[in-house]
Amino acid sequence: MLDKTATDWQALAGQLKFEGRAFINGRYADALSGRTRPSINPGNGDELVEVSVCSNEDAETAINGARSAFESGAWSKMAPVDRKMVLVRWAELIEKHADQLALLETLDVGKPISDTTNVDVPATVRTIRWSGEAIDKVYDEIPPTPADTLALVQRLPLGVVAAIVPWNFPLSTTAWKLAPSLATGNSVILKPASSTPLSALFIAGLASEAGLPDGVLQVLPGPGGSLGKYLATHMDIDGLTFTGSTPVGKMLMEYSGQSNLKRTFLELGGKSPNIVFADANLEKAAAMAAAAVFYNGGQTCTAGTRLIVEEKIQDRFLEMVTENAKGWMPGDPLDPSTAMGPMIDAAQCKTVAEYVDIGHREGAELLFGGKQTLEESGGYYYEPSIFGGVSNDMRIAQEEIFGPVMSVIPFKTTEEAVQIANDSIYGLAGAVWSNNINTAHKVAESVRVGTMGINNYFGGDITVPFGGFKQSGNGRDKSIHAFHDYTELKTTWIEFS
Ligand code: NAP
Repeated sequence: MLDKTATDWQALAGQLKFEGRAFINGRYADALSGRTRPSINPGNGDELVEVSVCSNEDAETAINGARSAFESGAWSKMAPVDRKMVLVRWAELIEKHADQLALLETLDVGKPISDTTNVDVPATVRTIRWSGEAIDKVYDEIPPTPADTLALVQRLPLGVVAAIVPWNFPLSTTAWKLAPSLATGNSVILKPASSTPLSALFIAGLASEAGLPDGVLQVLPGPGGSLGKYLATHMDIDGLTFTGSTPVGKMLMEYSGQSNLKRTFLELGGKSPNIVFADANLEKAAAMAAAAVFYNGGQTCTAGTRLIVEEKIQDRFLEMVTENAKGWMPGDPLDPSTAMGPMIDAAQCKTVAEYVDIGHREGAELLFGGKQTLEESGGYYYEPSIFGGVSNDMRIAQEEIFGPVMSVIPFKTTEEAVQIANDSIYGLAGAVWSNNINTAHKVAESVRVGTMGINNYFGGDITVPFGGFKQSGNGRDKSIHAFHDYTELKTTWIEFS
């Protein structure tokens, strides 16, 4: 994989076949209306393929097929050990097509090829394999009830689940939803983001090849505002799992209440604090402070966009962070040496530019970057950007920009660092850097987020749950805990005479 050059990847891209049709009842199919929209490569603005635009009629076909598959028991009542084998085969097939899939994701999303080959595809394989391997090791419960009674507490699949995912990690968020929902026996209808549907469509075909019965997995590309809403308000969908923005997440909770109270689990936005104390390993902290924001162009829910740094080292530390930022200048995503690719589209690039203007107007000081770049490529590239002199009440410290913009906020005391970190509507992730175990633990315990790193950023893997406090969501992706979001608890109470 990594022995390939940019020229090799470009040559492979020229031979790549794209599938843009929906995947319904075990086969690829055009939308019933015949409508399509182009999928665009954000690296150069070129069209990759026309993608089906599914509407309510397609959704009805998919929901009916998913319901029939569920009721048939072909998957929902299959022995966990057999479901395991299908998921493990699916993971193997994805692994077999790793290069192709990594390239597809790079072209559709603009992620650097080094990320898709090293992170997105391997994480997807591991998520599906791990969930498959786990499902026949999960036991139900027999509680300590009175004599002459026996209670069984079982976890049963919800039924038909709709999964709606975003464009920033299309493949891995898809895997985080599909692996546990399928492992627990549900039928699933996935709606990918309109701008990045290709990798989900690709792996759906591989799931069938691995032995997933028809109708158990449907992939419907189409607009969130209509198709997504239709799924979320549908009376015959039992569960809704979502990764995306907080405003859309709030709408989905309302849709659930307005329809059938479908179980609704949300993974939403963030404005994560990255707290650096003077006694930390500053070299490592500076490198990771840059990576925490600039990885994936800042289009990461857990991005450490608020760098909260002890005032007495602020100037020295910012020089170190700025030096690291130079290693994140954007470039061609097909070049294996590129660390940061383009923004997903022109609109996102414009949003980032607008927030940089807001930062200027609020009186923050731009220390690095602050411009769109590589415009001649036809893609949507923005420089890594750092604002100093930020106070936590500024919009650039409170609002999710979803671009490569860091806001640096100084603190004097541990209490102040924690107070700044928690002064946010979000609570997704964060980190603290200190070589004093007491300080590190005290801060980690006090910051209200779902995942906290001590002397690392982006730590974790499939074995640990992932999700947010506050307006960063509810529910948890990954680990055995993810199984809970896709199952109902059922009690059977037995009395002996
Ligand atoms: P988004 O605008 O909320 O869209 C996410 C998905 O929801 C897309 O598939 C979208 O479809 C669909 N959608 C939009 N409006 C809808 C509606 N009214 N009803 C039903 N579905 C609707 O988010 P995004 O811009 O794609 O992604 C970025 C956001 O995701 C950021 O806030 C980021 O923090 C968050 N995120 C969170 C996590 C996490 O695990 N916490 C992980 C990754 C990303 P269209 O594409 O057709 O609009």
